[in-house]
Amino acid sequence: MAKKGRVFSGARPTGRQHLGNYLGAIKNYVALQDEYDCIYCIVDVHALTTVDTTADLKQNTYEMALDWLAAGIRPDESIVFIQSQVPQVMELHTFLSMVTPLGKLTDLPTFKDKVREHPHNVNLGLVGYPVLMTADIVLYKTDLVPVGIDQQPHIEFARETVRSFNYRYNTNVLVEPAMKVTEVPKVLGTDGQQKMSKSLNNHIELALTPEETQKVVMTMVTDPQRIRRSDPGDPDVCNVFTMHKIFSSAQEVAMVNTECRRAGIGCVDCKKLLAKNINAHLAPLREKRNELAQRPDEIWDVLKDGGNRARVIAEQTMSEVREAIGLA
Ligand code: SF4
Repeated sequence: MAKKGRVFSGARPTGRQHLGNYLGAIKNYVALQDEYDCIYCIVDVHALTTVDTTADLKQNTYEMALDWLAAGIRPDESIVFIQSQVPQVMELHTFLSMVTPLGKLTDLPTFKDKVREHPHNVNLGLVGYPVLMTADIVLYKTDLVPVGIDQQPHIEFARETVRSFNYRYNTNVLVEPAMKVTEVPKVLGTDGQQKMSKSLNNHIELALTPEETQKVVMTMVTDPQRIRRSDPGDPDVCNVFTMHKIFSSAQEVAMVNTECRRAGIGCVDCKKLLAKNINAHLAPLREKRNELAQRPDEIWDVLKDGGNRARVIAEQTMSEVREAIGLA
C-alpha cells in the first residue's frame, strides 16, 4: 500500500523504557508504520546538552532500541538509527543557526524550563537545541512529526526556521514539516503526582518481570483520603484507576469504579488486578524482548543499517542545501 508520507520522530537514549514512554510515544510509533514511511531516531547528540556523564550512553541506546523493536517497530520498513551516526545533521544545524535569531531561542518556554533544571550548565548546545531538532526533522524532508501538545512550539519553530532558510537563500529546498498532534493519556508515576519519569524514580519499566511489576504497582499512591479498607474511595483522584482505564477491560473498570466508592474492593486487590492486566498486556513485548536480547549484535546491526539508510537521504538533502547556499 502506498504510504501517505514521511514521519520523523526522535527520543533521547534513556535506557529501558517505561509505561509512560510506551503509552506516550512507542505505541504511536508502531501504529504510524501502517500509514507512513517512518524514521525513528535515538538522539544521542541531544542528550549531551544535559547529561553529567556519558558512561551509560551506549547501553541506554541499546536498551531503548531493544524496547522499540520488541514493541513492534519494524526495522525492515522503518529506519531506526542513532543521531550521531549521521553527521550531516550537525552540518545542517550549523547552517540553520545562521538564520536563527538568538532571542527567539532564549524566549522559548522549553529553554527557560531547561535553565531552571540545569542552572549550572546553560551551554550553547542547550540554547541551540531547537535548531538541532529542526535539523533532525528537515534533513529527512519530513512531512509529518508526531508530537504531544507540549511540543507544538518546537515544531512551529522548525517551520519558521525552514521559511527563514528558504527565504534567505531564495530556495524551496527545505520542507516545512506538519504536526500530527497525538492525544496521549497523561501517565502519572507511581507517586500519583508527577509525570512518569525515570529521573523521578516513579516509573514502571516495560522489561520488568511480572513479579517485579506487581511489586512496583503495589507501591502506587492511591486516593489519599482512603486510609482504612472500610473507607469509601474516589477512583477519580486515583492513578491506579487511571491505569485501569488503559489496561483493564470495560467490565473491570466499571467494577472498580463502583466498588471503590462503596469500599467493596480494597486497594491491595485493586492493584493486584491492575498488575495482572499490565503483565498480560506486556507479555508479548517482553517475550520478544527476551528473544531479541539473546542476539545483541542484531540490535546494533539494525541501528547500523538504519544509519546507512538515513545517511543516503541526509546526503542528498545536504548536497541540495550546499548548492542552495552557494557553497563551492
Ligand atoms: S480501590 Fe483502586 S481505585 Fe479505589 S482508591 Fe484504591 S487503588 Fe484507587
